[in-house]
Formats: sequence, structure tokens, C-alpha cells
Amino acid sequence: MGMESQRRKNSGGSGTPPINSQAFSRRALGGLLAGAAVPASMARQNTSQPKKILVAGGHPDDPETACGGTILRYVDAGYQAVIVYLTRGEAGIPGVSHDEAARIRTAEAEKACKLMKARPVFAGQIDGSSEVTPARYAQMRTILEKEAPDLIFTHWPVDTHPDHRHCANLILNAWIELQRPQPLFYFEVATGSQTQIFHPTDYVDITATVERKHEACFVHVSQKIREHYGRNHGPMERFRGLEARCSSAEAFVRHAQGPDAVLI
Ligand SMILES: [Zn+2]
Repeated sequence: MGMESQRRKNSGGSGTPPINSQAFSRRALGGLLAGAAVPASMARQNTSQPKKILVAGGHPDDPETACGGTILRYVDAGYQAVIVYLTRGEAGIPGVSHDEAARIRTAEAEKACKLMKARPVFAGQIDGSSEVTPARYAQMRTILEKEAPDLIFTHWPVDTHPDHRHCANLILNAWIELQRPQPLFYFEVATGSQTQIFHPTDYVDITATVERKHEACFVHVSQKIREHYGRNHGPMERFRGLEARCSSAEAFVRHAQGPDAVLI
């Protein structure tokens, strides 16, 4: 199926949904899981428990730069947020040993999570050497079963970085094995240089949270996010904002086989 027909299908077959910020803000959160059939194994024991989003990225800084504004909007709305880091960014600081880089970047990720009121989970793979194996499939399935999120975000799988592709692959496999119980959305990172052929189906207006998003991104000092932001993620936020008719936005592709969902 081509992307155009796929997008039409995602929008319920009734044309492209409105994407302006006013329309987003009017949409009820209660519609998130409308019509979702949640298997017993995934159902929450305590229905008064806050809803939860899970965001899985290859390295410290990927979830923050890709969808930090969206994470903050959900947290502001009362959701719990769990961020799964596939690796600790061991290979991400030139001239520094893997152990030392992991220590530095773990601390940065924990600081970013604290700013976003999110809880980090480290999946224990190694930056640049991540694996997709039966054992790793099982591990990611265990993480999703344990966390039982109401909504999942992960990398768009067509990406130049193997760790990003592997993260998407592991999440997709676990989601399929668990019978696709929640909506699954793909995010973009450094589109053009990393994420490729990404055509959004959904947008989130992050105008209200973009400054706090930047604070969470800029704690990744080892990655020089602040210095590079004006060349990659900053233009992405503004361009997606133009598309969504707001100041700043983040864009996503919804997996059509999950429950219907409207992002916050
Ligand atoms: Zn990355």
C-alpha cells in the first residue's frame, strides 16, 4: 500500500483530519483508547492508576529531541512517562572510553528525565553494537509487559543509525507479540541525516512545552545539543509547526494496526 492511501486509512477514511493547534487542544484525552481491545495480560489491575506513555529510543537524547515536547504535554495532563534507552550512548563521546561515556550519558539522561518528570529504563545494549536476537526480542517484550503503557512512541525504522533501526524493530516485535494492545507511534530524529522518507500522519502542538523541552535536551552537554540545535531539531520543530499551523510541533507516524488514537 502506498503512503497516500495508508495516510487516508489512518485518518479513518474521511479525509485528512484538521491539524491546527486549536483542533488538537479540543480533542478529548478520553478518546485515546477508544475502541481498544486490551488483552487481559495487559489490563491494569487498578483502573485509578494514571495512564502511561512509553518512549523508546536508541540513545540518551533521542527521546528528548524527538518528542520531548509531546512527553511534557502528556506529563502535564497527568500521564506517567517512561523512557526506555536501548543503550547508554557508550560510543557517543570521541576519545572517551565506553565505560566513562556510559557514566556521563547515563547521568545526562537521568537529569533530562528528572526535568520531564519521566522515569528512565536502561535496556542494557551497547551503543553501535546493539543486537536484534531472540533474547533481545524477549527482553523488550518483558519491558512492555511490565510497563503496560497506554501509548508507545519509538523510532521510525528507516534510519541511518543501526541502533535506531534495532530499537524500532524490537518494539514492533514485542507490540505484535502482545497483540498490538495500545497505539504505536513512530517519531523522527534529525530528519534528512538520520530519519529517512518520513511522512507524518499526526502532529502535536508543542508551543506550550518547547522551552522546557529544550532544557531537557540541552542537559546532554556531551552531545553538544545546544550548539547543534539550530541546525537540525530547531528547524524540524518550526517546519512541523508550519505544517500543523502552530508555532512548534512534533510529528509522528501512527501504525495503522493499533487501536485508533488521537494524540494529545
Ligand atoms: Zn540516537
